[in-house]
Amino acid sequence: MSRIENEIQSRMDSHAISPRLQDYFNRCIEFHTYPAPGLLIGVFMVDYAVEQLGATPGEKLYSVCETQKCAPDPLQVLLHCTSGNHRLRVIPMGRFALTLNRPSIEPFTEGIRVFIDPGKLERYPLINSWFTNHPSFNQREKALPLIDEIFRAGRDILSAEKVRVKVTPKQKWQSGKCRICGEMVPSDLLEEGVCIGCGPNAYYKKA
Ligand SMILES: [Zn+2]
Repeated sequence: MSRIENEIQSRMDSHAISPRLQDYFNRCIEFHTYPAPGLLIGVFMVDYAVEQLGATPGEKLYSVCETQKCAPDPLQVLLHCTSGNHRLRVIPMGRFALTLNRPSIEPFTEGIRVFIDPGKLERYPLINSWFTNHPSFNQREKALPLIDEIFRAGRDILSAEKVRVKVTPKQKWQSGKCRICGEMVPSDLLEEGVCIGCGPNAYYKKA
């Protein structure tokens, strides 16, 4: 084990993190490649949301993540909600929050939303200064104490609420050919016969 892995292990043990959660943390850290604070909090969030929904991690669930930072990863690792299988929607609105719901054919369905609750951060000064990006927070010096505080806090900094989630039905679509590159795309993504990749939003130029 590397030094950081040892540190994480001993901190999980000292805060009596359950073997089930320890397994969640280890898998998510490996996937993410390092123990980012937001990732660790995200593991607690997913675990809490699953419990509040009365679901099990093997169940088919849909998720919305309100931030691009860290939190999408525990949803992918623990619940297999991915962008590719359409069970993870990342809507970058900057709130550190996520919502889970079951499949539904109704226009709305019951879900659980879990978020970092600012009112609960007072007792956790390191999490608070990291979360608010306070200028006094020293990422390098405080990395491990912050991780320790995150394990100590667990769900204590989170709140959960019941919500009604809008269900987006599968759209019918037709294929169309871009008149510049000649590749096929869904026709509603063509503008005057030109795909996004050949339009003003192209992300590359031919080398
Ligand atoms: Zn094109």
